[in-house]
Amino acid sequence: MKKWFGILVMGTALLFMLFNINKDTLENLEIINDKLEPSYEYGIIVDSFDVKKDIVKMGQTMGEILYLNHINHFEINKIVLKSKGIFDVRRVNTGKKYTVICSTDSTQRAQYFIYEIDATNYVVFDLRDKIDVYRGKRKVNIKLKTASGTINSSLWLTMEEQGLSPKLTAELSTIYAWTIDFFKIQKNDGFRLYYEDKYINGEYIGIGRILAAEFTHKGQNFYSFYYKENQNFVDYYDEIGNTLRKAFLMAPVDYKRISSRYSKRRKHPVTGRWKGHFGTDYAAERGTPIWSTANGTIIAASYTKNNGNYVKVKHNSTYTTQYLHMSKIKPGIRKGVYVKQGDIIGYVGSTGLATGPHVCYRFWKNNKQVDPFKQKLPAGDPIKIENRDAYMLVKDSLMKILMN
Ligand SMILES: [Zn+2]
Repeated sequence: MKKWFGILVMGTALLFMLFNINKDTLENLEIINDKLEPSYEYGIIVDSFDVKKDIVKMGQTMGEILYLNHINHFEINKIVLKSKGIFDVRRVNTGKKYTVICSTDSTQRAQYFIYEIDATNYVVFDLRDKIDVYRGKRKVNIKLKTASGTINSSLWLTMEEQGLSPKLTAELSTIYAWTIDFFKIQKNDGFRLYYEDKYINGEYIGIGRILAAEFTHKGQNFYSFYYKENQNFVDYYDEIGNTLRKAFLMAPVDYKRISSRYSKRRKHPVTGRWKGHFGTDYAAERGTPIWSTANGTIIAASYTKNNGNYVKVKHNSTYTTQYLHMSKIKPGIRKGVYVKQGDIIGYVGSTGLATGPHVCYRFWKNNKQVDPFKQKLPAGDPIKIENRDAYMLVKDSLMKILMN
């Protein structure tokens, strides 16, 4: 921009000196300058091309779209090979947006193909002389919003009535998962929120993060403030810097239902024998990722006839957890590997002695299998002492916004 402006100013001065031209000519010059400003799409100057935008039709492949735009099969094959490790071209899905940038000459050959993975991410296939494939990201603009409400019936209904996204409700209930039992919400409980709305080119694409929240439950206020302690670690903390998280997640999967709880005596669904069930069964879709519920070291990642594929994690001298019946253990998860809370360790399946896809989650305290729901679990780490002052400053400014 600056460069073009500089050229314009210098050029104008020069023309004035040489020809002493009148105002009309100057205006023309500005129009010419407008045209000099190139127009970009996905970082490509498209002025001299034909830009076609469409969506992938039912059953359509990338090869088919390229072929329609005068790329031959030999070239398509080369593109597929070049894409390896960058984007799997078989994952071009029906309904997704794409752009073909074609030459305007008689060949009308595609020069670029751009596939939009989602609202922010895209892949560029540069089809000129040498084929090149790379990923790109659109600039997301964030608008900060506040919202508040008093609950009459459920949190979901109240937030919906306010026109708030269900994703925001889900996010809020995740933040408070350990603090508030959302099944026991009462009339006159309430919330205040400060959060991000995301836009691309002025178009709303969804919510971002919740930056601050106040939840009032039974007349008590529970605060949460988003804070990044370091490059790799973000969490929500309360007004004095304690985390809202426990050292253990409530569940090792995003589950559909708990199909069997810990009990000292139950009839086994496969063997029919009466025996204690010392785990909690979480039914979930086959292939659903299974998380380690806390930081720890893998002490087993193996297979047995009853357990199927399973992983066992030792968290400290007191707690150990185990995850059974996996369809697959995640590659790289083996004895000795350190995992963090929420890291994927495997995928839901029904290997071993299991009737359907589920995770049998076992929880040991001092070498004894116990019911994790009956334990008073330790809290996650608070803000580190050296970050406390910085956190308090952030917290104070967020609190001010919340209370406005
Ligand atoms: Zn089980």
